[in-house]
Amino acid sequence: MVDQATADEQYLAKADFQVLLDLLAGEGYEVIGPTLGEGAIVYGPLRSVADLPRGWTDEQEAGHYRLVRRNDEAWFGFVVGPQSWKQYLFPPRTRLLTAKCEHGTWKMQPAEEPVPKYAFLGVRACELAALDVQDRVFMHSAFPDPHYVQRRQQALVIAVNCTQAAPTCFCTSMATGPRCRQGFDLALTELAEGFVLEIGSPRGRELAARLPLAPASEQQCRDAADARAQAEQQITRHLATAGLRELLLSNLNHPHWDEVAARCLSCANCTMVCPTCFCSSVEEVSDLLGEQIARERVWDSCFNPQFSYVHGGLVRHNIRSRYRQWLTHKLATWHDQFGTSGCVGCGRCISWCPVGIDLTQEVAGFRAAADRALFDRRPGAGEHAASVSGQGRGPSGLSASRPFLQQPRGEAGRPLPDEAPELGQSDAPGSESPRSTEGR
Ligand code: SF4
Ligand code: SF4
Repeated sequence: MVDQATADEQYLAKADFQVLLDLLAGEGYEVIGPTLGEGAIVYGPLRSVADLPRGWTDEQEAGHYRLVRRNDEAWFGFVVGPQSWKQYLFPPRTRLLTAKCEHGTWKMQPAEEPVPKYAFLGVRACELAALDVQDRVFMHSAFPDPHYVQRRQQALVIAVNCTQAAPTCFCTSMATGPRCRQGFDLALTELAEGFVLEIGSPRGRELAARLPLAPASEQQCRDAADARAQAEQQITRHLATAGLRELLLSNLNHPHWDEVAARCLSCANCTMVCPTCFCSSVEEVSDLLGEQIARERVWDSCFNPQFSYVHGGLVRHNIRSRYRQWLTHKLATWHDQFGTSGCVGCGRCISWCPVGIDLTQEVAGFRAAADRALFDRRPGAGEHAASVSGQGRGPSGLSASRPFLQQPRGEAGRPLPDEAPELGQSDAPGSESPRSTEGR
């Protein structure tokens, strides 16, 4: 769909872009944006336009990411890298409090660390959606997180519309992109010599009033719309979301979970790169004398065995149960908790999985198996069903030789006791441990 120009669109020449960075710095913002680092396009401090990865792009596929030189000098001619904005709003390590022992008495002190005032530059549409998802978790839930709330409320968001897509992107399936439609202060679409700029908030309007802008010409608006349409046309990956929650939750004992588990390393990469994952643990670190401690929140993952440790044992004690927890939470039970999917279609977990596990393919596998089961259950379908079983791997990658088993199940779709893990506790999604908060 080619979107139309809006009356509010203005034009910022690339030659004037440094004015924006200087203005933000002058207002006390720490500008964070895309830059080259560690063989990838990562997020870091931006002081000058020279810090942007001009002329570079990213080549992505399942289990594959490479930096590649472009044949032009585009400033934002790439998609998303291994990092996301969550590392600034929900840092990998946050000090919660300190305690000091004085004269035999422990004194607790809440951590008082300065909260940076960030300006995020280059936020993509799927990332705006991811910020919204994390807002629901950390700001709009029954227990708002004060660390997140403060960082988020003072952050300025300058979005950049994608003008190209990677083979791993599927934001169109999740209705999150590639066009930035809300959740930004300013949004830019890159052209060869400048940017078409849209205003998304009163704060963005104030900022725009201090920039050397000109009204965007009709041609510039058309070029920007064409560039955005190009990104949309390049998206080839698809995730069918209709009935997805029911599909996954009605197949908790499907043998395909074992097949994924045989490939999955339980390395947790997919959760670390995901812009919406928010599992964490709390650690206490003491000094050598045992007189001071710091309590810190650190990123954790449902793929880490210890994450489900309760009372001397693991609730999710095998990779099958951990992968299943991750996928069903992302795509099914997240809806129950937060009223939205936990996936925004950014494709990071596909690129950064070392063995190239692709959630869109896994879901397609479950769907294909469900369709086959329906087909096989038709009256008189027995003979045909026998002939199609054993035909090897289907287009989804799911083995067609394994019959789809619609297991009988207990209350709320949980597995029956034949699958009960150690400790006699169900490892089904939604069976929360006492240590759990919202993200398991
Ligand atoms: S799905 Fe891939 S990235 Fe995620 S834990 Fe398994 S091997 Fe690691
Ligand atoms: S589950 Fe994968 S594709 Fe979806 S938001 Fe997370 S990293 Fe992106």
